Amino acid sequence: MDHFEYRQNELFAEGVSLASIAAEVGTPCYVYSRATLERHFHAFDAPFNGLAHSICYAVKANGNIAVLQVLDQMGAGFDIVSGGELDRVIAAGGPPNRVVFSGVGKSIEEIRHALRRGVRALSVESEPELQRINEIAISLDLQASVAIRINPDVDPRTHPYIATGLRGDKFGVPFEDALALYQKASKMSGICLTGIACHIGSQLTEVEPFCDALQRVLDVVDELHKIGIHLTHLDLGGGLGIQYSTENPPAPQQYIQALIDVLKTRECNMHVTLEPGRAIVGNAGVLLTKVEYIKKGPDKNFAIVDAAMNDLIRPALYEAWHDVVEVNKTVDRDSQKCDVVGPVCESGDFLARDRMLAIEQDDLVAVRSAGAYGFVMSSNYNARPRAAEVMVDGDAFHVIRERESTTSLFSGEHLLR
Ligand SMILES: *Cc1c(COP(=O)(O)O)cnc(C)c1O
Repeated sequence: MDHFEYRQNELFAEGVSLASIAAEVGTPCYVYSRATLERHFHAFDAPFNGLAHSICYAVKANGNIAVLQVLDQMGAGFDIVSGGELDRVIAAGGPPNRVVFSGVGKSIEEIRHALRRGVRALSVESEPELQRINEIAISLDLQASVAIRINPDVDPRTHPYIATGLRGDKFGVPFEDALALYQKASKMSGICLTGIACHIGSQLTEVEPFCDALQRVLDVVDELHKIGIHLTHLDLGGGLGIQYSTENPPAPQQYIQALIDVLKTRECNMHVTLEPGRAIVGNAGVLLTKVEYIKKGPDKNFAIVDAAMNDLIRPALYEAWHDVVEVNKTVDRDSQKCDVVGPVCESGDFLARDRMLAIEQDDLVAVRSAGAYGFVMSSNYNARPRAAEVMVDGDAFHVIRERESTTSLFSGEHLLR
């Protein structure tokens, strides 16, 4: 459920028409709905019913500080994968002690920054990383709170680029090596072992892989218990999918209930952390864009719009399917089959293919489900300034990121003397 709906054939975000936003802010432009963000966060938070838990929103899905602010105000924690994301959380007012730090390649600087700021836990993905964290913690005269990320070797049945819990992936520690690593960690004076983590992939549309991964992680917890290592925190990562077209992912409530059912059979009383990104913000945003030209091709037509692969790379990168809809449906026009493409000089620059759309030059279209992995993956390719971002809140809207100017793109560059 989201708050993008037609009113008298005009597409609205909550109480604001998208056409009015385009008129004021210009296009291309990302538009997010605050009510949708809040609704989705609540859908993850509520089913725990008093069970000790944290919902640590994955900042990499959409790191705009106003998005983080809205979630922080609802009590969210944050899952980060870089020092830059930690700075974003802090700028948004988020407390570092609600932050978990994931990722395979944490630098010395990033680890030092995170430890100084007092993040809740670091998810460790390899032995050399564990050693590095230990050394830095000792040099700072503190103990780093650590979870080891297990690679449970389960197939999430998603796009290969976003599968992360298979044996051959770069993520996590193979579960057969986990015990030995925990034993090493337990002897390190800069390490405080608190948890265990996993994250098996993104855009999962079934609960079974999550439950299989949880069973494997709990097997490790049991083994550790036998050798005197008692963990208190269980982090199951993110990855719940959303509906882009015909997918039918479980609702957060169903997914969480399935996890709780597994936990009950194992009499597990650990604090549970989830790290949803896409499922919170994906359907809370659209990319608003204007048709520059309709170009008739020999075999099909192209709707050339002012947003491109540099604004939304998911179609080009993962062959992702996004719904594209007319912002104004009142005008009486025939629909035509077209590819929706941008101005970038690549044939991979498409947002959608073979769509029936009733559009003409200067019309607005909205690319739906663009709130996650949209703006954050945008670039300046072809010297294109990045789009503005807007947050709708009831009957008002706020520019939460200004459109870049072309001069800002080369402001850090230098001519030779
Ligand atoms: C990407 C990522 C997430 C969020 O994944 P979604 O599919 O957006 O929910 C959570 N945890 C970790 C460790 C990640 O890398």
